[in-house]
Amino acid sequence: MSGSMTDRPQSDTAGERPDCAAVIVAAGRGVRAGGDVPKQYARIGGEPVLRRTVGVFAAHPAVSTVVTVIHPDDEALARQAVGPAQVHFVDGGASRQESVCNGLKFLDKLDPEFVLVHDAARPFVTEDIIGKCLEAARRHGAAAAGVPMADTVKKTDGAGLVTDTIARDRLWRAQTPQAFRYRDLLAAHASAAGQALTDDAAVAEAAGLAVAMSPGSEDNFKITAAEDLARADRIARAAAPRITVVGHGFDVHAFGPGDHIVLCGVRIGHSHGLEGHSDADAGLHALTDALLGALGAGDIGQHFPDSDPQWRGAASNRFVRHALGLAAAADGRLVNLDLTIICERPKLQPHYDAMKRSLGDLTGLPPARIGLKATTTERLGFTGRGEGLAAQAVVSLDLLDTV
Ligand code: MG
Repeated sequence: MSGSMTDRPQSDTAGERPDCAAVIVAAGRGVRAGGDVPKQYARIGGEPVLRRTVGVFAAHPAVSTVVTVIHPDDEALARQAVGPAQVHFVDGGASRQESVCNGLKFLDKLDPEFVLVHDAARPFVTEDIIGKCLEAARRHGAAAAGVPMADTVKKTDGAGLVTDTIARDRLWRAQTPQAFRYRDLLAAHASAAGQALTDDAAVAEAAGLAVAMSPGSEDNFKITAAEDLARADRIARAAAPRITVVGHGFDVHAFGPGDHIVLCGVRIGHSHGLEGHSDADAGLHALTDALLGALGAGDIGQHFPDSDPQWRGAASNRFVRHALGLAAAADGRLVNLDLTIICERPKLQPHYDAMKRSLGDLTGLPPARIGLKATTTERLGFTGRGEGLAAQAVVSLDLLDTV
């Protein structure tokens, strides 16, 4: 992998010293946030945390190179998570400090004037936070994003009793990014080797460098526990672009012996029944195919094969529920449906209310978002001859646009 140090980054501007590189620290393997992958690979708003974080730096006009420090076992995960962004991967070390140091060493040939160090698990960093941190580093030599302490801070003895109330007016909670003159930080890391400092500002301080605080934000929080991941997912989903998609479905069933049909989940008395593997509810089959079509998820036959005995005589609302479940997994919301039944008989108008109610119960849609119509084909074709019944459905879904 590139962590072998053979894959040296190259400057786009030959001969000119690049202004700023970014080191994203993603080498942790903690699964404290829940799930089966480290938090930086978990998905928020349908997208891996690392992709969001790397994306902000890769898109920043001041950043010419992005290095991501990962655990050597996670290369495949990391490449998949980052996607198309231009990123160099470097193997991390035993501690955060060592991992950052590996990222810095990787930049040796490139020799940027400034370097930004950022935790992969802070995906809501913004262009503005990065810009202000870099600006503060230009002025003072080094800077860390952070937020002034808003809570009163108490110091306690071993038993949890307060011994001190600490004046908070000059206290900050440090975040990342943190920005440094590259050569200064590289030297500071070399002299701090073996210590267990928790951020790079502390490494710089230990080397006697001045570090300024620059404005971060409460949204620039670090995903640590499961509730952080849930909060990040809520924020990402609320901000994610959405798209409206449309799906169409069509289904036919032949009339056969029987005394009723089932249409849109409603039993309707008739001189014939409908033939089919399940309950032959052409209305719900067309609706299922419309939902699957909108999701680009195949058709009803692929999800519920005729050859599978478990669907024999099945109530077709199961098929619709399955398709709605797929939509929900894509954070989709059914906006409306429009269903047309094509047959000469039975006359459906007396059953419209019951059918609409049934569709509403099944989909959660209000009556104004459910279109239900019936038409004949003027005695033409198979429906005109009373050989069978056809249904067409159109749906629109509001989806998270993560494709
Ligand atoms: Mg069918």
